[in-house]
Amino acid sequence: MNAINFSQSTAYRIAVWLNQALELDIAIDSKVEPHTWFQFSDDNGGVVHCASATPGEISKFELGKKETRDHYLEIIHLARAAISKGDSLEINDANLYVVFACLHEFGHYRQWKDLSAADYRALVDRRHARFDQLNKTILTMKKGYARGQEAYQYFAKEYRRLPLEHESDLFALEQLQIVLRMGVGD
Ligand SMILES: [Zn+2]
Repeated sequence: MNAINFSQSTAYRIAVWLNQALELDIAIDSKVEPHTWFQFSDDNGGVVHCASATPGEISKFELGKKETRDHYLEIIHLARAAISKGDSLEINDANLYVVFACLHEFGHYRQWKDLSAADYRALVDRRHARFDQLNKTILTMKKGYARGQEAYQYFAKEYRRLPLEHESDLFALEQLQIVLRMGVGD
């Protein structure tokens, strides 16, 4: 397995590399909807979509918007906490974010593939219900005592506790440690 220079690769190329390195056999393409970098769709046999954009570009965009900034920071926080327990390999935030985000989508692919259709559907429905609830809470927070920033921070933390999202994060963190042990870096 050849090493990869994360900084000079696109998210799509990184995803393809991760898929091979971890022998996960996941279908990947670079077709993302506008304003997204990473997606999983359960139609057409299940596909993970990762954008043709570099970690630097993605990072700059995510950190530049108040709606996405806290999500970005929450992911870095989660991933760093997992790394610090294991390897000391240096990886910058932008690269770490993209690697984690790809692996998180891989986690969704695995959920969809490994669960029965009925179990998966039930989890998707639960996630939708909780997500709607969370959105309502955020709206109330914004109208009330909290400043926008507090609401966004709350949203970023609670999002990661949603059904399917939490399990995908656990999968991503586990795989991340394996990837970093392969000795890849910036
Ligand atoms: Zn997700």
